[in-house]
Amino acid sequence: MESLGVVLVVEDEVPLAKVVASYLEREGFVVHLAHDGPGAVEQAAALRPDLVVLDLMLPGFDGVEVCRRLRTFTDAYVLMLTARDDETDKVVALSVGADDYIVKPFSPRELIARAKAMLRRPRAAPPSEPRAAITIGALSVDTDARTVSVDGHPVELTRTEFDILAALAERPRSAFTRGQIIESVWGGEWYGDEHVVDVHVGHLRRKLMDDAAEPRFVRTVRGVGYGMGTG
Ligand code: CA
Repeated sequence: MESLGVVLVVEDEVPLAKVVASYLEREGFVVHLAHDGPGAVEQAAALRPDLVVLDLMLPGFDGVEVCRRLRTFTDAYVLMLTARDDETDKVVALSVGADDYIVKPFSPRELIARAKAMLRRPRAAPPSEPRAAITIGALSVDTDARTVSVDGHPVELTRTEFDILAALAERPRSAFTRGQIIESVWGGEWYGDEHVVDVHVGHLRRKLMDDAAEPRFVRTVRGVGYGMGTG
Protein backbone atom coordinates (compact mmCIF):
# COMPACT_ATOMS: atom_id res chain seq x y z
CA MET A 1 0.00 0.00 0.00
CA GLU A 2 1.29 3.45 -0.84
CA SER A 3 1.89 5.52 2.27
CA LEU A 4 -0.55 8.38 2.78
CA GLY A 5 2.03 10.20 4.86
CA VAL A 6 4.01 10.09 8.09
CA VAL A 7 2.08 10.75 11.30
CA LEU A 8 3.56 11.36 14.73
CA VAL A 9 1.07 10.49 17.48
CA VAL A 10 1.91 12.20 20.77
CA GLU A 11 -0.12 10.84 23.66
CA ASP A 12 1.00 9.75 27.13
CA GLU A 13 -1.91 7.34 27.56
CA VAL A 14 -0.11 4.47 25.88
CA PRO A 15 -3.19 2.28 25.21
CA LEU A 16 -4.96 5.21 23.50
CA ALA A 17 -1.82 6.06 21.51
CA LYS A 18 -1.66 2.46 20.30
CA VAL A 19 -5.33 2.38 19.26
CA VAL A 20 -4.95 5.62 17.30
CA ALA A 21 -1.74 4.32 15.71
CA SER A 22 -3.33 1.06 14.64
CA TYR A 23 -6.27 2.84 12.98
CA LEU A 24 -3.92 5.18 11.13
CA GLU A 25 -1.68 2.31 10.04
CA ARG A 26 -4.65 0.37 8.74
CA GLU A 27 -5.48 3.36 6.53
CA GLY A 28 -1.97 3.42 5.08
CA PHE A 29 -0.20 6.02 7.22
CA VAL A 30 3.29 5.41 8.57
CA VAL A 31 2.97 6.06 12.31
CA HIS A 32 5.48 6.92 15.02
CA LEU A 33 4.70 7.40 18.70
CA ALA A 34 5.92 9.82 21.34
CA HIS A 35 4.69 9.91 24.93
CA ASP A 36 5.92 13.19 26.35
CA GLY A 37 6.64 16.78 25.31
CA PRO A 38 10.43 16.66 24.85
CA GLY A 39 10.20 13.31 23.03
CA ALA A 40 7.60 14.74 20.67
CA VAL A 41 9.79 17.68 19.64
CA GLU A 42 12.84 15.43 19.23
CA GLN A 43 10.97 12.89 17.10
CA ALA A 44 9.31 15.57 14.97
CA ALA A 45 12.71 17.10 14.23
CA ALA A 46 14.10 13.70 13.22
CA LEU A 47 11.09 12.32 11.32
CA ARG A 48 9.66 15.44 9.66
CA PRO A 49 6.11 14.06 9.82
CA ASP A 50 3.30 15.32 7.58
CA LEU A 51 0.87 15.37 10.49
CA VAL A 52 1.28 15.51 14.27
CA VAL A 53 -1.64 14.26 16.38
CA LEU A 54 -0.87 16.04 19.60
CA ASP A 55 -2.44 15.56 23.01
CA LEU A 56 -2.77 18.74 25.03
CA MET A 57 -1.91 17.27 28.46
CA LEU A 58 1.52 15.67 28.40
CA PRO A 59 4.36 15.07 30.84
CA GLY A 60 7.54 17.11 30.41
CA PHE A 61 5.87 20.07 28.78
CA ASP A 62 2.37 20.22 27.39
CA GLY A 63 0.96 20.12 23.88
CA VAL A 64 0.78 23.90 23.64
CA GLU A 65 4.51 24.16 24.25
CA VAL A 66 5.19 21.28 21.85
CA CYS A 67 3.18 23.02 19.15
CA ARG A 68 4.94 26.32 19.73
CA ARG A 69 8.32 24.59 19.35
CA LEU A 70 7.20 22.60 16.28
CA ARG A 71 6.23 25.82 14.56
CA THR A 72 9.83 27.03 14.77
CA PHE A 73 10.95 24.34 12.32
CA THR A 74 7.99 22.64 10.62
CA ASP A 75 4.70 23.48 8.93
CA ALA A 76 3.39 19.93 9.44
CA TYR A 77 -0.32 19.80 10.08
CA VAL A 78 -1.09 19.68 13.79
CA LEU A 79 -4.31 18.11 15.05
CA MET A 80 -4.66 18.82 18.77
CA LEU A 81 -6.44 16.45 21.14
CA THR A 82 -8.20 18.34 23.92
CA ALA A 83 -9.54 16.65 27.01
CA ARG A 84 -12.76 18.57 27.33
CA ASP A 85 -15.06 20.70 25.27
CA ASP A 86 -13.45 23.85 26.57
CA GLU A 87 -13.33 26.99 24.42
CA THR A 88 -10.14 28.17 26.11
CA ASP A 89 -8.30 24.98 25.23
CA LYS A 90 -9.36 25.24 21.59
CA VAL A 91 -8.43 28.87 21.29
CA VAL A 92 -5.06 28.27 22.94
CA ALA A 93 -4.40 25.25 20.71
CA LEU A 94 -5.10 27.19 17.54
CA SER A 95 -3.26 30.29 18.73
CA VAL A 96 0.03 28.41 18.95
CA GLY A 97 -0.35 27.13 15.41
CA ALA A 98 -2.47 23.96 15.55
CA ASP A 99 -4.59 23.52 12.41
CA ASP A 100 -7.53 21.78 14.02
CA TYR A 101 -8.58 20.12 17.24
CA ILE A 102 -10.65 17.14 18.25
CA VAL A 103 -12.30 16.74 21.64
CA LYS A 104 -11.83 13.58 23.72
CA PRO A 105 -13.46 11.15 23.77
CA PHE A 106 -13.44 10.90 19.99
CA SER A 107 -14.07 8.00 17.68
CA PRO A 108 -10.97 6.77 15.82
CA ARG A 109 -13.04 7.00 12.64
CA GLU A 110 -13.50 10.72 13.17
CA LEU A 111 -9.80 11.18 13.75
CA ILE A 112 -9.01 9.27 10.54
CA ALA A 113 -11.47 11.41 8.59
CA ARG A 114 -9.84 14.60 9.90
CA ALA A 115 -6.33 13.30 9.20
CA LYS A 116 -7.26 12.38 5.64
CA ALA A 117 -9.03 15.68 5.04
CA MET A 118 -5.89 17.57 6.12
CA LEU A 119 -3.45 15.52 4.09
CA ARG A 120 -5.65 15.74 1.00
CA ARG A 121 -5.25 19.47 1.07
CA PRO A 122 -3.20 20.67 -1.86
CA ARG A 123 0.51 20.81 -1.34
CA ALA A 124 2.54 23.70 -2.65
CA ALA A 125 2.92 21.94 -6.01
CA PRO A 126 3.89 24.31 -8.79
CA PRO A 127 0.93 24.82 -11.15
CA SER A 128 1.42 24.49 -14.90
CA GLU A 129 0.68 28.17 -15.49
CA PRO A 130 2.24 30.57 -13.03
CA ARG A 131 -0.38 32.82 -11.50
CA ALA A 132 0.12 36.46 -10.68
CA ALA A 133 0.00 37.44 -7.02
CA ILE A 134 -3.39 38.73 -5.89
CA THR A 135 -3.22 42.33 -4.72
CA ILE A 136 -5.88 43.82 -2.49
CA GLY A 137 -4.87 47.27 -1.31
CA ALA A 138 -1.61 46.90 0.61
CA LEU A 139 -2.04 43.12 0.77
CA SER A 140 -0.35 40.78 -1.66
CA VAL A 141 -1.13 37.04 -1.73
CA ASP A 142 1.09 34.87 -3.94
CA THR A 143 -0.75 31.56 -4.23
CA ASP A 144 2.12 29.90 -6.14
CA ALA A 145 4.87 30.80 -3.69
CA ARG A 146 2.38 30.68 -0.79
CA THR A 147 3.69 33.98 0.52
CA VAL A 148 1.83 36.98 1.86
CA SER A 149 2.97 40.54 2.38
CA VAL A 150 1.43 43.73 3.73
CA ASP A 151 2.95 47.01 2.54
CA GLY A 152 5.79 44.93 1.12
CA HIS A 153 6.60 43.30 4.46
CA PRO A 154 6.36 39.50 4.52
CA VAL A 155 3.80 38.00 6.93
CA GLU A 156 4.29 34.51 8.35
CA LEU A 157 1.07 32.47 8.27
CA THR A 158 0.34 28.86 9.13
CA ARG A 159 -0.86 26.72 6.23
CA THR A 160 -4.42 26.88 7.43
CA GLU A 161 -4.34 30.66 7.79
CA PHE A 162 -2.84 30.95 4.34
CA ASP A 163 -5.43 28.64 2.79
CA ILE A 164 -8.30 30.62 4.33
CA LEU A 165 -6.84 33.91 3.12
CA ALA A 166 -6.18 32.52 -0.38
CA ALA A 167 -9.76 31.19 -0.61
CA LEU A 168 -11.14 34.63 0.22
CA ALA A 169 -8.64 36.53 -1.93
CA GLU A 170 -9.23 34.43 -5.03
CA ARG A 171 -12.82 35.71 -5.14
CA PRO A 172 -12.49 39.10 -3.47
CA ARG A 173 -16.01 40.26 -4.27
CA SER A 174 -17.71 37.20 -2.78
CA ALA A 175 -18.99 36.61 0.71
CA PHE A 176 -18.25 33.15 2.07
CA THR A 177 -20.09 31.22 4.72
CA ARG A 178 -17.97 29.40 7.29
CA GLY A 179 -19.12 26.16 5.65
CA GLN A 180 -17.86 27.33 2.25
CA ILE A 181 -14.52 28.32 3.74
CA ILE A 182 -14.21 24.90 5.37
CA GLU A 183 -15.18 23.23 2.09
CA SER A 184 -12.54 25.17 0.23
CA VAL A 185 -9.77 24.66 2.80
CA TRP A 186 -10.45 21.19 4.19
CA GLY A 187 -12.53 19.64 1.42
CA GLY A 188 -15.96 18.09 1.70
CA GLU A 189 -15.30 15.43 4.29
CA TRP A 190 -14.99 17.47 7.46
CA TYR A 191 -16.61 16.90 10.81
CA GLY A 192 -15.34 19.70 12.99
CA ASP A 193 -17.20 22.69 14.30
CA GLU A 194 -17.39 25.85 12.20
CA HIS A 195 -16.04 27.96 15.06
CA VAL A 196 -12.56 26.91 14.00
CA VAL A 197 -12.88 29.35 11.07
CA ASP A 198 -13.48 32.29 13.42
CA VAL A 199 -10.42 31.44 15.47
CA HIS A 200 -8.18 31.17 12.41
CA VAL A 201 -9.60 34.41 10.98
CA GLY A 202 -8.84 36.09 14.34
CA HIS A 203 -5.18 35.06 14.10
CA LEU A 204 -5.05 35.98 10.44
CA ARG A 205 -6.30 39.48 11.21
CA ARG A 206 -3.80 39.90 14.02
CA LYS A 207 -0.92 38.86 11.76
CA LEU A 208 -2.13 41.13 8.95
CA MET A 209 -2.60 43.89 11.54
CA ASP A 210 -6.17 44.15 10.35
CA ASP A 211 -8.87 45.54 12.60
CA ALA A 212 -12.16 43.64 12.63
CA ALA A 213 -14.05 46.86 13.40
CA GLU A 214 -12.45 48.74 10.51
CA PRO A 215 -11.10 46.05 8.23
CA ARG A 216 -8.62 46.75 5.48
CA PHE A 217 -8.52 43.17 4.27
CA VAL A 218 -10.80 40.58 5.87
CA ARG A 219 -14.29 41.80 6.59
CA THR A 220 -17.05 40.14 8.56
CA VAL A 221 -20.18 39.74 6.46
CA ARG A 222 -22.97 39.92 8.97
CA GLY A 223 -25.22 36.87 8.95
CA VAL A 224 -23.01 35.16 6.34
CA GLY A 225 -19.35 34.80 7.26
CA TYR A 226 -16.32 36.50 5.74
CA GLY A 227 -15.09 38.23 2.63
CA MET A 228 -12.28 40.47 1.45
CA GLY A 229 -12.26 44.23 1.36
CA THR A 230 -13.32 47.09 3.53
CA GLY A 231 -16.54 47.67 5.43
CA1 CA B 1 -2.56 13.16 28.04
